[in-house]
Amino acid sequence: MDTIKLKDLTFKPYISKEEIATAVKNVAARINKDLADKNPLFLCVLNGAFVFAADLFREINIPDAEISFIRMKSYIGTHSTGEVHMISGLHEDISGRTVVIIEDIVDSGFTLIQLKEKLQECNPADIKVATLLFKPESLKYDVNIDYVALDIPPAFIVGYGLDYDELGRNLKDIYTIVQD
Ligand code: 5GP
Ligand code: MG
Repeated sequence: MDTIKLKDLTFKPYISKEEIATAVKNVAARINKDLADKNPLFLCVLNGAFVFAADLFREINIPDAEISFIRMKSYIGTHSTGEVHMISGLHEDISGRTVVIIEDIVDSGFTLIQLKEKLQECNPADIKVATLLFKPESLKYDVNIDYVALDIPPAFIVGYGLDYDELGRNLKDIYTIVQD
């Protein structure tokens, strides 16, 4: 596979679609086992998690599982703005329910800690977190992540739902930035 250019940046292939599929299935199997007797509400954090959520949710075999979507934004370009906005909120009643946040990537953990705080106000029974990617070396906040598909070093990546200035979400594989 070749490098690709998105606007001013070059990216090289990093995690293949086959590796991603295996990692997603492994996470789904763990969730299926842990939450088999619950009626979990999966909460996909848009935009980045939409591809992961679609693949993960179709591997979930819990009969009472439901999915919904919320929208958050903290990144502009390749840098976090340090501020998280919940652009479109939650319409479901989550009190007494197990919620499974579906994230594309946990970097500093700031987005996740903010989201968990907001959801706690609605009195869920439990909040679990499933993320496609986790950058352990970038974590700055003390936030528990229950299910990680893939650990990665702190470089900027795109593809499989993740963007660079809204581009690259349609890439089937994950690409990492080429530093010059
Ligand atoms: P955090 O709040 O944990 O620092 O950042 C989380 C959010 O930043 C993610 O949900 C994602 O939208 C964005 N983000 C963090 N790292 C990357 C990355 O390497 N690539 C892309 N495309 N987005 C990232
Ligand atoms: Mg995100």
